[in-house]
Amino acid sequence: MKNAGNFYINGAWVAPQAGTAFDVIDPSNEEVVTQISLGGEADTNSAVAAAKAAFVKWQWSTKAERLELMENILAIYAKRSDEMGETISREMGAPIDMAKQQQSGAGAGHIKAFIQALKEFEFEHPLREGDESTQIIHEPIGVCALITPWNWPMNQIALKVMPAIATGCTMVLKPSEQSPLSGILFSEILHEAGVPAGVYNMLNGDGPGVGSQLTDHADVDMVSFTGSTRAGRLITKAAADRIKRVSLELGGKGANLVFADADEKAVKQGIIRCFNNTGQSCNAPTRMLVERSRYDEAVEQAKAAAEATSVNSASQEGRHIGPLVSQMQFDKVQDLIQVGIDEGAKLVAGGMGRPDGLNRGYYVRPTVFADCNNDMQIMREEIFGPVLSMMPFDTEEEAIAIANDTDYGLTNYVQTTDPEKAKRVARQLRTGMVDMNGQGRGAGSPFGGMKQSGNGREGGKWGLDEFLEVKAVGGWPT
Ligand code: NAD
Repeated sequence: MKNAGNFYINGAWVAPQAGTAFDVIDPSNEEVVTQISLGGEADTNSAVAAAKAAFVKWQWSTKAERLELMENILAIYAKRSDEMGETISREMGAPIDMAKQQQSGAGAGHIKAFIQALKEFEFEHPLREGDESTQIIHEPIGVCALITPWNWPMNQIALKVMPAIATGCTMVLKPSEQSPLSGILFSEILHEAGVPAGVYNMLNGDGPGVGSQLTDHADVDMVSFTGSTRAGRLITKAAADRIKRVSLELGGKGANLVFADADEKAVKQGIIRCFNNTGQSCNAPTRMLVERSRYDEAVEQAKAAAEATSVNSASQEGRHIGPLVSQMQFDKVQDLIQVGIDEGAKLVAGGMGRPDGLNRGYYVRPTVFADCNNDMQIMREEIFGPVLSMMPFDTEEEAIAIANDTDYGLTNYVQTTDPEKAKRVARQLRTGMVDMNGQGRGAGSPFGGMKQSGNGREGGKWGLDEFLEVKAVGGWPT
């Protein structure tokens, strides 16, 4: 990749001023794909200065100008969509077909949805009908630091960059150092689409370096962060001194409530959903709670589905799952599988070590634990691998209580054919999102969590609000 070692600052590709070399590893074979640079303070300062200077003009850009830029980005992204899928597959190990359809596709979907959201958004309106002398103005917050993770790289980048552009903000993106190549390709797309110099800047770096420098920077007005709850806490503390706005999208430990009257395929679909992206999704349904009368059958179905899940290299076509992203994640998932065994959960599929025949690469065995209780570490901690933990419940109230007994609050899942029960349960679950009976949420729905899953809402009108200040003006001439 031509720009692997460079940063995109003020409309041009530039060499780092304070860079250190960093290997990008292909998780399927542990080989070095290429080297990038991790920036230092001088690079962070240049990128923020470019964004600050560009804000002077870009904040007054019209809706039509922003829409034209976003339509250009969409057209060029569509042209390079397969290349994006290949890049993501290589850097973080998503199987190639899945990477092209879901990973790259998610980016295109969000660009489209934000074009729609911007068309519908009113930046100025009276307080209410009959009170036209009070005007409400939604104006861009300023220079935004966008810090993203590696697990759904283009999903997260599009969810931040597009609303920032749409609202008239300027920005510095720092993609994850584990998945930097898709961020570089995205920057090439923005350049080709004609993003004005300084409006969008991108530099690579790690959390303690560029990540912390951006969070702490006096000229950064807002931090939009997606990643671990651990880093979310550090960022919140670092931003506190300057009362900087921080929007957080953090981890999850979603419960999947399978009632006795659920569709026959509910358990199998729950496994597929949990193992998708090799279990590396914040909204994965990783705790399966099953009504007791169906529990034994569900454990058998989960075991069969896990054993039928094939694991293979990300470069292979097909519907298998790939490796985990890194040695560090591999070690963490192995440790937690051991914890589950030590805690006395019943291992019904998978377990420690790599799947047969895969000796190199960060591959793990699709694993199912049954007979868990909600005090176990494997029920409380985000494992971030293809590991499902199951436990039975007796009543609706008990299922809701177990689902809500967690530090997280991102997504829960409900499987029942009783419409009244579905609505009743959805209302009582303490998560930002509830998915029922395998149906997704519409494009432009807000994505975000409660409790330690964060406080942000990305997507649609809510995603635009994150990047806006609200001003109330009295005495507005009518
Ligand atoms: P991470 O927190 O280690 O890193 C995320 C990003 O933050 C990276 O760019 C990293 O360099 C940076 N970073 C790390 N420490 C930092 C610090 N102190 N200051 C500033 N920046 C810092 O997370 P990860 O391992 O890359 O991603 C996986 C996590 O992301 C999981 O917990 C997952 O649940 C979460 N996630 C959440 C959502 C959501 O929308 N809620 C979506 C995807 C992933």
